[in-house]
Amino acid sequence: MTTPDPSKPLTGAAAVLERCDELASHSSLSDGLIQRVYLSPEHAAVNALAAGWMRDAGMATWQDAAGNQCGRLEGATPGLPALLLGSHLDTVPSAGRYDGILGVLTAIAVVERINADGRSLPFALEVVAFGDEEGTRFGTALLGSRALAGTWLDAWWELTDEVGITLHDAFVAFGLDPAAVTAAARTSNDFVGYLETHIEQGPVLEENDLPLGIVSSIAGARRFQITITGKAGHSGTPWTHRRDALAGASEAIVAIERLARDADLIATVGHLEVFPDAVNVIAGRAEFSLDLRGRFDADRDAAWQRIEALLEEICSTRGLHVAVHQTHAAPAAHCSDRLRGVIAAGIRAADGSDDGSTPLELLSMAGHDAMAVAHLTEIGMLFVRCAGGVSHHPDESVTEPDVARALDAFEAAVLALADGHTLQDPA
Ligand SMILES: [Zn+2]
Repeated sequence: MTTPDPSKPLTGAAAVLERCDELASHSSLSDGLIQRVYLSPEHAAVNALAAGWMRDAGMATWQDAAGNQCGRLEGATPGLPALLLGSHLDTVPSAGRYDGILGVLTAIAVVERINADGRSLPFALEVVAFGDEEGTRFGTALLGSRALAGTWLDAWWELTDEVGITLHDAFVAFGLDPAAVTAAARTSNDFVGYLETHIEQGPVLEENDLPLGIVSSIAGARRFQITITGKAGHSGTPWTHRRDALAGASEAIVAIERLARDADLIATVGHLEVFPDAVNVIAGRAEFSLDLRGRFDADRDAAWQRIEALLEEICSTRGLHVAVHQTHAAPAAHCSDRLRGVIAAGIRAADGSDDGSTPLELLSMAGHDAMAVAHLTEIGMLFVRCAGGVSHHPDESVTEPDVARALDAFEAAVLALADGHTLQDPA
């Protein structure tokens, strides 16, 4: 434990929001827009800033072999397993300033408070600022957290960014050794659990007039590339001889939306390309993406089977051919009863409403680093209200009172876990 300087004020909500603004200034876009991708100069700059704040909070710091910025405050005795706190510092293009960032800065501020109070916990505290959650640069999400979880895939080295730089070469340019990436992998024995604070990215807390909520589980997504092939031809071709791939894709996209609504799932077609893409030529080929997510993997997978049958039916009626290729699959990640319990205790303590009631639990339809960390240890997440549920957009917004409440709740959650840990599992 580092001795805190009593003359220095602790990092409160206003200072956390100032740090969010400072991180937002490290962007590869101009005009105040934010984009910060994995292994970029901006990534290096925000790691250096985070490392400084971690050291101010009393932590020893290091950047791991995958470019994640890490810090550690020892517990009652050196070398204890750690409670891992964190989120990510990378962004989507034209991002907001809180998605991921708020979670890292909340974690650092809470460690600073616990260090300043001179508490010795029955576990160490570690903070991790993951370098890649969004997958903006290489198209595959959770690279940072999967390196830590030890689920890195060698096939990723050949992934390229939009200018053709491979992940392998980006590692080297960042000063990392690709051959050493396994050194970033931690083990289950290293951790007692993982807690993450994140903006909700949905309107449920706002609609319920609540600043904070508990995540029950994180929906797992499956993503597909779907290619429908017909026959390109002159736009004057009569109806009897047309095999229009775009008309087939359009019918399929609307049918997928209807099926997913009826099944209480979320389906998004966010990308569509048409070939040859000319005003007077029938589309010979249409390619589109599908992102499918739901509360339970079994429901989602059953819906996908129905979608596949639907695609076959639509295409055979229209004389088209369909091919599907899965590009991503993640199981739903469930937050543990124990960590949901400590987050509930934290929210109640911050509310001053210690009546034993359970604060609102929400399903996260968005993916988070916690999904990757769940491979190693139990996970828990605290959601913070964001204005209008808007995220991945410059309008992303949180309030200072909500952030203050989140800091109090997150600290109280860590201390609640420490109390329970001492009772159940003396270190
Ligand atoms: Zn995020």
